[in-house]
Amino acid sequence: MSIKLLLCTDMDRTVIPNGMQAEHPDARRRFRKFCQSENVCLVYVTGRHRQLVEKAIRTYSLPQPDYIISDVGTKIFQFKEKRWQEVQSWCDEIDQDWNGKSHTDLKALLNDIKDLQLQEFSKQNTHKLSFYLPLYLNKDLVIKEVQQRLQKVGVNASVMWSIDELTNVGLLDVLPEHATKLHAIEFLQGRLGYTDNEVVFAGDSGNDMPVLASPIQSVVVNNASDEIKAMAQQLVVENGHPQSLYIAINPGPLGMNGNYSAGVLQGVWHYAEGFRPQLEARDNS
Ligand SMILES: [Mg+2]
Repeated sequence: MSIKLLLCTDMDRTVIPNGMQAEHPDARRRFRKFCQSENVCLVYVTGRHRQLVEKAIRTYSLPQPDYIISDVGTKIFQFKEKRWQEVQSWCDEIDQDWNGKSHTDLKALLNDIKDLQLQEFSKQNTHKLSFYLPLYLNKDLVIKEVQQRLQKVGVNASVMWSIDELTNVGLLDVLPEHATKLHAIEFLQGRLGYTDNEVVFAGDSGNDMPVLASPIQSVVVNNASDEIKAMAQQLVVENGHPQSLYIAINPGPLGMNGNYSAGVLQGVWHYAEGFRPQLEARDNS
């Protein structure tokens, strides 16, 4: 029987070596080579929007993916007929959470909350309203107000708060409840017909946690923090499927340090025995 793999991976600090730790000199070349195989379907799963995904692919010579789950799960793109095309059925799926409301309607609904400042146009989309929220303000009160207003009009939203560590500004995203990295991966898995043991996910940080903690076979790259590794480990045990998490190590399988794409490959090696000969091939082509 032929083997196949749906390889879903986060980008920043997972396949993009933009963290503090050293990347193994062979890691990305071997990752690129592996992803060229016809039986590997590569999916980037990221908070970036599509243009920023393409920029990272060029800057870091990353392999071209077959799909991109972008904008924190609110969009899925497929590379088809030599161009990126949005997967409309995903758009329709998450649109149900908006209960017939448009981006403009929701913007108007939250417009008079004075502490919220709308982010730039490029950071908005039909299913993503993004605001700045200064760090000195009481974020919990604002989040509660946003949640109450959305609930009142029957909108199922996740209100996500985070900090942009580069600029030290608070960020507040309003997303359809089902527009998550996890749900988007499950949606693609179903649409493309992969069984549970033909899917591997790789990540490194907090926004990957719902997938890392899910029954999807996952790997935490070695450059992730000890806190993330410990939290993921605890959650899979609590959720009753400890076998669905692998933490990349140094030294580890394939003779690399487990950081970034070397960790992603270790994860595939760990879960997908049928792919080991492909992974172990060390030629320079
Ligand atoms: Mg990351």
